[in-house]
Amino acid sequence: MTTVIPIVAIANDLRARLAARIRDVPDFPKPGVLFKDITPVLADARTFAECVDALAAPWREQRIEAVCGIESRGFIFGAALARVLGVGFVPLRKAGKLPAATVGVDFELEYGMARLEVHAHALGPNVRTLIVDDVLATGGTLAAAYKLVAMLGAQVLGAAVVIELDFLHGRACWPSEVPLHALLHY
Ligand code: AMP
Repeated sequence: MTTVIPIVAIANDLRARLAARIRDVPDFPKPGVLFKDITPVLADARTFAECVDALAAPWREQRIEAVCGIESRGFIFGAALARVLGVGFVPLRKAGKLPAATVGVDFELEYGMARLEVHAHALGPNVRTLIVDDVLATGGTLAAAYKLVAMLGAQVLGAAVVIELDFLHGRACWPSEVPLHALLHY
């Protein structure tokens, strides 16, 4: 069966308000990286609320049952989104942070390797799950999150990010048949 996702356009004024509160920090955390700092978005009550509502919009009719947020800024947007959608939140964490039994995925970052873990019993089979992060860059992190959630037997309905860095082509790492919505593109 094909799932039809309504196209939800994000209003231009919201896009402008959001973009005005994303701070570019050159050479952080290392030379050559232009870091997209979303903390000014979080600090502004109206923009943060509108941002979370816009992230939620495409998923409101999708019967999402769980939101998975990627450490660490994915926790902030993911937890707020879970609240708005009225579902639970599951953290996908860096190696060694979760206390109970975990499963994990190793993946490549731009420089070196990383590992993402989830509690082994955090999601039941076929749970309709949405994955959330702040920024999609080269795509390795979001692809690892997809694998991890799929390893638990849950169903990945899609992903939501605030920012997609189009020039890094991270979307190519994400399964093309699974919806991935970004509020802002650079
Ligand atoms: P990637 O695996 O390359 O798509 O990297 C995505 C992860 O790294 C996300 O969790 C982001 O929070 C973080 N990240 C990568 N590049 C940036 C950037 N330019 N600005 C802010 N965060 C970034």
